[in-house]
Amino acid sequence: MKFEKITACLDMYGCPNRCKHCWLGTTPNGNLSIDDLKFVAEQFRPFTDNLEVSDRYREEDYSYNYKELWRITTELSDTKTPHFELISYWRAVRDDEYVPWLSSLGVKAAQLTIFGDEATTDYFVGRKGAFQEILRTIEILFQYGIAPRIQTFIYKTNIAQLPYIQNLIETLNLEKRCADIGREFEFFLHQGSCSGENEKLYDVWITSDDMDKIPHKLIDLTLKHFGKSHIRDVLGDTEKELYNQLVLDSSTENIVTNKPVFYIDKDFNVYPNYETPSSFWCLGNLKTQGAEKILRNYVNNKSIAQNVKLTVPINKMVIKHGNPESMRLFGKRDYKNYILHKYCRAL
Ligand code: SF4
Repeated sequence: MKFEKITACLDMYGCPNRCKHCWLGTTPNGNLSIDDLKFVAEQFRPFTDNLEVSDRYREEDYSYNYKELWRITTELSDTKTPHFELISYWRAVRDDEYVPWLSSLGVKAAQLTIFGDEATTDYFVGRKGAFQEILRTIEILFQYGIAPRIQTFIYKTNIAQLPYIQNLIETLNLEKRCADIGREFEFFLHQGSCSGENEKLYDVWITSDDMDKIPHKLIDLTLKHFGKSHIRDVLGDTEKELYNQLVLDSSTENIVTNKPVFYIDKDFNVYPNYETPSSFWCLGNLKTQGAEKILRNYVNNKSIAQNVKLTVPINKMVIKHGNPESMRLFGKRDYKNYILHKYCRAL
């Protein structure tokens, strides 16, 4: 059994935050060792000539030895993806070497998530002080020529904060300051996928009548970011519209690819990076079962969610768990997975 590429991401240290929108889930943090990382690489190595190993799938660079981890994962990998435009603002305000290091790797933009004012942002991040850390990080990023990119998740409970965010962008002069370092300022808003922690916010999910509450300036920036022409192309269709489409759709899906990405939690349970790492996506345990068994489970769709996705038509699932009257907005793929998760949970 050989794959064109395997990417194995080990959740060695977790994340300092407990975001209410987190699709990865706010599971307990681990404290794994370099030997654990090497074990993961050794396990998957026989099954591909193109292995990539990562020390995280949640917060970037959260651990104190982030530089060493970057070096070791480079050594363990045949392919090393450049550093994502995702960073740890927790680390940025605690470690003077961090942002210069990001700059030395060629990072030119860094994404930061704001939910509204200080109280609202701290509430959604699940940690007091997060908002102030983000503001300080923006200043540090500019010092090293990195452009902040702002992302906002919108719900009924924070959509009224959008004028505050627009005002913050103007007060901080982000468009001009990004232009001064040769970058275009980027902002985008969306509701995220209704999975992981975010699924718990279904009751306050945005509906079609909320569109009028979004300031034009933020819509324009969002459309530019996604390369779309209408905000509904970003926020999707109503659940009612999707329900009516999907009740006529008897298709099933196989998610197996020749270049899988696997998430490995701190207890060495393995999940395909397709959806939230959760029990119904689990392919087995790397320590007790080994990579060969896990890869066979993956290829043969043995996780509960893969099996359901492959064998149960989407219309059967949506009739059982969809809401034909709901005006909540979803992307089609996200909605199908939201329904799949409800179906799996009810088995
Ligand atoms: S969204 Fe990111 S920062 Fe927030 S809890 Fe999840 S992994 Fe951590």
